Parts: sequence; structure tokens; C-alpha cells
Amino acid sequence: MNTPSFVIVGASLAGAKAARALRDNGFDGSLTLIGDELWYPYERPPLSKDYLQGKVDRDTVFVHPPRWYTTHEVDLRLDTTATAIDRGNHLLTLGNGEQLPYDKLLLTTGASPRRLPLPGADAHGVYYLRSLDDSNRLRELLHTASRIALVGGGWIGLEVAAAARAAGVEVTVVERSPLPLQAVLGPDIAAVFADLHRDHGANLHLAATLAEITTCDGAATGLRLADGSRIDADAVIVGIGATPNTGLAGDSGLDVDNGIVVDPALRSSDPDIFAAGDVANAYHPFYSRHIRVEHWANALHQPDTAAATMLGRDASYQRLPYFYTDQYELGMEYTGYCEPDQHYQVVVRGDLQERRFIAFWLRDDRVAAGMNVNIWDVTEPIQTLIRTRTVVDPARLADPDVPLTDLTTPASSRTERDMN
Ligand code: FAD
Ligand code: NAP
Repeated sequence: MNTPSFVIVGASLAGAKAARALRDNGFDGSLTLIGDELWYPYERPPLSKDYLQGKVDRDTVFVHPPRWYTTHEVDLRLDTTATAIDRGNHLLTLGNGEQLPYDKLLLTTGASPRRLPLPGADAHGVYYLRSLDDSNRLRELLHTASRIALVGGGWIGLEVAAAARAAGVEVTVVERSPLPLQAVLGPDIAAVFADLHRDHGANLHLAATLAEITTCDGAATGLRLADGSRIDADAVIVGIGATPNTGLAGDSGLDVDNGIVVDPALRSSDPDIFAAGDVANAYHPFYSRHIRVEHWANALHQPDTAAATMLGRDASYQRLPYFYTDQYELGMEYTGYCEPDQHYQVVVRGDLQERRFIAFWLRDDRVAAGMNVNIWDVTEPIQTLIRTRTVVDPARLADPDVPLTDLTTPASSRTERDMN
């Protein structure tokens, strides 16, 4: 019998973790990992935090040590783009024209920064942050620039703002919402982040509409807002979200809708093709719907499920979404999922002013998500609150003297019937 041939496209966190999960679970067939970047697979979170600030070396960002790929007989093809999938013949075409046969194919093609569709967006001195090369360029910039403008007050905008302030660079963040992170956190909690940045000397232009990136001789000189005001800057960094890299999947006729549509086992509409990480819009049994999240933890853990399914085992990805950020002296973890554009009651346990609290998002008195700020080791009880769908008393939830674990014990938590 021929040895099976598995191919993974996308050599980043999810791809490298999938290769490891396959080998750890005894897959001894041929395993190829295709990546269009030049670097060994690496993690992105440090690129806007410690690595950008020069606090950690480049070697710390790699998912596995370089020798891991050879010792585990993974044919890692860097600087190689997969250009087409011939599903009928089980062939993957590469940029050099080579055709690679596969028995099972995993797509971990991730996401790319959304581009700013405005005049000046292609000027010299306009930066995006997704790759290690991008982070290297920004590291250089933070040594040489005296003032920068950031377009987008999302995670990239705020983490880069913190790194820039730490480097003594003057920072202006331009965000179209009334507060940075407002769409994710709502106004009360988003205000904590706005205050944090103001306290560290960042300028925030909120509820602002950007008209253009101003240029001189092809180089960015700052921003012009729709109200006519100008922000001068040595460079402009754009962080306005990411879009999933679905071209390869879509062109081959796989179901694509806000990512590659996969079932809980991470199998696509083709039984021999799978997807994981940022690109996967996976049916989540707990939420009874498809969700796509752009979080490190998802790219870390989904590959275990994908690998198990590829090996013919029953598997289902059931973890709750989780992500984190570090900005200045604020560290936070967020667990759970809130539907965009839905109303949630926000309950705070702790002190927003001191930036030491847990915020909970409730719907129908049940916790949908929890975010711990400068408080640690509470992810598990928060997950339990979410998973058990326990009806909670907001007053007890807000009370730091009531252990979170008490809220889910039958004696102290109210049942749905008690509420009616
Ligand atoms: P990606 O990391 O996007 O990797 C996909 C890879 O596939 C890329 O190398 C891409 O070039 C390659 N590829 C795409 N198409 C092809 C093709 N046709 N052929 C070959 N190769 C291809 N999340 C958190 O939870 N916390 C954080 O603090 C955090 N910080 C972040 C900081 C930064 C700067 C960035 C950019 C992201 C951050 N994230 C964070 C998000 C997290 O990094 C992503 O969720 C994670 O990287 C997703 O991994 P992935 O492997 O699915 O996709
Ligand atoms: P993001 O978190 O989605 O934030 C994008 C921000 O840009 C939002 O505040 C958005 O405002 C704003 N925006 C969109 N279009 C705009 C425009 N034309 N002008 C001004 N503002 C605009 O995306 P990101 O910060 O670019 O991050 C990219 C990816 O990296 C995401 O997947 C993110 O999750 C990931 N990442 C995660 C972390 C982390 O988890 N700690 C850190 C860094 C990066 P609206 O909300 O009003 O649309």
C-alpha cells in the first residue's frame, strides 16, 4: 500500500502546530508544509509587543526550533505559494508550477491586513503589521521616528501605540468609533483603554473620518481628516482589521463565507480538505453556529482537532474563544464570545479606575464573556460560568467577596426558575 501523503498550506502557527499534532499522533506518511514567507513558522503576538519593543530575540518567536522539521521528516517548503487546488485529481499546484499530490489537505492560510482604500495609502512611510518583516521595519521606525500616526484603534493600533510610547515616540491614534475597541468591548470598558493610552501620552482622535494620507514627493507626511484637520507624522501605521485568505479555497469551489466553512471536525465541503486557524469559519457546537475568530489560542488548538480528523478519528473543536493583550502595565485575558451588534449587560467586579477588574458580558443573566484585567488565574471559573450557562445574580457576580466558583454551585446560584 502507498504511504499516505498529507499537505498543509500556510506555515504559521496553525500550520506548524498541525504538522506537530500529526506526527505526535503517529502519522508516518509523507508530510509537506507549504509557506509563502521566508521565515520558519513563527508566532505573531510578540510582533506588536515584546519583539517590537526589542525585549525578546527573534529566536523566541519561532513555533518549533528549525531542526524540528528535519527530525520529524516534515518537508517544509518556505518562500513557496500554493496557487491552485485540483480537487478532482487531488493535486496542489505551487507557484513554480510543480504539482503536489495529496490524500488529505489542510488549509491554514490565515488572514491578511485590510488595506486602506484612500489617497496616499501606497505612499512610502505607510506601514502595516502582520509579518515578522513588518515588525522588523516598525522596530527600525521606532528608533528613528519622532512622531507617528496610527489609523485604527483596534488591537494592532493600541499595542503599537504602547510600543511607540515606550520608545518615546509621539503617537496619534485615529479611530472612527467614539472609543478605541468600542465594537468589541462596549463603551464602559473601551473607556478604560482610552484612558490608559491618554495617561501614557498618546493622542486619540476619536469618531474621526480619515480623508487621506498626506504625502510629499511620494512619502507620507501625516493624515487629513474629513473635518479638514491635519495630523503631521513621520510615518503612518494602518491597523484596520484583517480579512481571511480564502482565495485558494474559493477558486477551487470550496464553500467560503467569511472564511472557509468547516464543520466541528474542521472538515470543509470537500471531505479530504480541512481548515484551521484564522481562515476557518467553523461550526461551534456550544454556539450552534459557525464562528471565525482571529485569535492566537484558536490557531494553537484547532490543529489538534484537524489532525485527529485527518487521521480518521472522531474529533470536534469545542474550546471557547480566548485572547489576550498587553499594553503598558495592563495585561488582560478575554474568554467567550459576544455576538456583534447585540446588547449585553456589563457587570464589573473590581475597580475600573485602578485597572484591576473582571468585566462580564451578560445576556438573559447568563455570562457570555469575561475579561480579566491585571487579575490572573480566573480563566477556568469564567469558562465554567459560560459553559454551564448558569443564571447569575449580577450583584453577586460584581461582589469580589463571592468566589466565582460559588456562582456555579447549585446551592448558591439561582436557577432559571428562580428568576421567573
Ligand atoms: P496566519 O498567522 O495568518 O498564517 C497564515 C500563513 O499562511 C501566513 O504565513 C501566510 O503568508 C501563509 N499563506 C497564505 N496563503 C498562502 C498560500 N496560498 N501559499 C502559501 N502560504 C500561504 N491573537 C491573540 O489572541 N493575542 C494577541 O496578543 C495577538 N497579537 C497579534 C499581534 C499581531 C501583530 C498579529 C498580526 C496578530 C496577533 N494575534 C493575536 C492574532 C494571531 O496572531 C492570529 O490569530 C494567528 O497568527 C493566526 O494563525 P494562523 O496560522 O491561522 O494564520
Ligand atoms: P481590529 O482589532 O479588527 O481593529 C481594527 C480597528 O480599525 C477597529 O477599531 C475599526 O473600527 C478600525 N477601522 C476600520 N476601518 C477603519 C477606517 N477606515 N478608519 C479608521 N479606523 C478604522 O484589527 P487590527 O487591530 O488591525 O488587527 C488585525 C488582526 O490582528 C486582527 O485579527 C486582530 O484580532 C489581530 N490582533 C490581535 C491582537 C490581540 O488579540 N491582542 C493584537 C494584535 C492583532 P470599527 O470597530 O469602528 O470598525
